[in-house]
Amino acid sequence: MKHTPVAIMWFRQDLRLKNNPALLSALQSKLPIVFVYIFSDDHTSWPMGEASRWWLHQSLSALGAQLREKNHSLVIRQGNCLATLQSLIQETHATHVYWNRCYEPHRRSEDLQIRDALRAMQVTTQDNNGSLIIDPEYFTNNSGRPYQVFTPFWKRYLSETIKATTASLPVDLPTPKTQPASIPLEQLGLEPTIDWASGFRAVWIPGEAGAHKQFKRFVTSRCVSYERDHDRPDRDHTSQLSPHLHFGEVSPQRVWSHLSNRHATDQRKPFHRETTAMLRQLAWRDFSYHLLYHYPHTSMQPLREKFARFTWDNNPTALRKWQRGVTGYPFVDAGMRQLWKTGWMHNRIRMVVASFLTKHLLLPWQHGAEWFWDTLVDADLANNTMGWQWVAGCGADAAPYFRIFNPVTQGLKFDPTGEYVGRWIPELAKLPVPWIHKPWEAPPLLLAEHGITLGSTYPYPIVDHQKARQRALAAFAALKHEPGESQS
Ligand SMILES: Cc1cc2nc3c(=O)[nH]c(=O)nc-3n(C[C@H](O)[C@H](O)[C@H](O)COP(=O)(O)OP(=O)(O)OC[C@H]3O[C@@H](n4cnc5c(N)ncnc54)[C@H](O)[C@@H]3O)c2cc1C
Repeated sequence: MKHTPVAIMWFRQDLRLKNNPALLSALQSKLPIVFVYIFSDDHTSWPMGEASRWWLHQSLSALGAQLREKNHSLVIRQGNCLATLQSLIQETHATHVYWNRCYEPHRRSEDLQIRDALRAMQVTTQDNNGSLIIDPEYFTNNSGRPYQVFTPFWKRYLSETIKATTASLPVDLPTPKTQPASIPLEQLGLEPTIDWASGFRAVWIPGEAGAHKQFKRFVTSRCVSYERDHDRPDRDHTSQLSPHLHFGEVSPQRVWSHLSNRHATDQRKPFHRETTAMLRQLAWRDFSYHLLYHYPHTSMQPLREKFARFTWDNNPTALRKWQRGVTGYPFVDAGMRQLWKTGWMHNRIRMVVASFLTKHLLLPWQHGAEWFWDTLVDADLANNTMGWQWVAGCGADAAPYFRIFNPVTQGLKFDPTGEYVGRWIPELAKLPVPWIHKPWEAPPLLLAEHGITLGSTYPYPIVDHQKARQRALAAFAALKHEPGESQS
């Protein structure tokens, strides 16, 4: 019997239909398309965290609904990607397989293995870049080595012409005669058994439609003052696109080209400045992938080798207090509580809480990265690794060791009215500035007036800032005087 050939479109971290290079390639083949998602999470040292699993469930559900509107379905399978693709090829008689590349180290080696194995089966494969603006392999510095400093990377970036893959999708996608069986989404067990995600549902709409809504909100309102306000956690002026970008629900190239087109056509100074600031953040994202791609060991090991000898503290109680947002430093605690409740935290707060963990508490940055990995809806191996190593001082272009954020002055500067702290720590909300950022110095009568009993309704600081700072400076300075390391 002669079989009608089909193409497999294998979704990964590109859970969208619009501006999806792999899908556009599949459409060009003119073959009926089978849409597949394979959940395969057990062979990595970074299995998906709880918050990401929640997001993935919602995103797959949204993608399935989008496909059903187009008379298609999303075939969900679980297991080893190569073995699953091979069996799908046999079931469907697929002659072509299309996907977008993933850049995490374990995915890269898997991709190569899959490509070779499928080609050996006489199946045509094509992989594209659907999740970054520029492929990490694309450029190196003037000495032919990977970049380790952001500014030259950014300059080089600006010299490139970046074009988004855009083509409108046909109303009807070519449908195969029969669909292979799918396991029910629920069988993946991604959703929590105890419903702790109500705070997530109140904030996020996972999926392509949610991503576009979020992007529209950014360009129509938030972008206007992005440059001025993007460092202020009390103002919601960043795009909050990070989980959508991580799961590929919106194309970063599309975001980039939309903003840079406006940048080119609207030369009014303020808008020009705002778009540049946002484009720069997107380039930071690509920079983090550039680093992880070229230094694949860095999700666990410091990029700067001598940091491997740093003596971190071992204090599970302090770690637990940090995780729960009960360190007694309101700006830190507000961030950690926002993270727990919503799965997200503003970049400024991420820096402050990371600095607190690695410098005030001298706890290993990997412990912080693991907690973020489990609790962030935008948990991203490249961004998370770069962020933690940057703050700890052991990564590329890292913050100098003597930069130790003072959580009180950071609070006063970036949350000057105390609104952010009040939002996440209601028991302190009525305290006026500056006491809301340092309640232990507030007049006792004022505390009593607002029903605050330190040590009972809100904790005392778990460390003294000045003492912790001195301890960290000494520990980091000792390392500084050790013999050098190889740097590029
Ligand atoms: C310790 C630490 C851990 C971090 N972990 C993650 C993580 O797991 N996942 C993640 O997506 N980001 C991470 N970041 C980077 C940054 O905090 C978030 O990307 C940002 O807060 C997301 O909010 P937004 O979408 O509103 O950003 P916007 O300001 O609107 O920026 C737009 C996009 O640019 C990218 N971006 C912005 N800032 C950075 C940055 N500093 N580094 C890399 N990319 C950036 C993000 O994709 C973001 O969505 C981390 C930062 C630190 C300091």
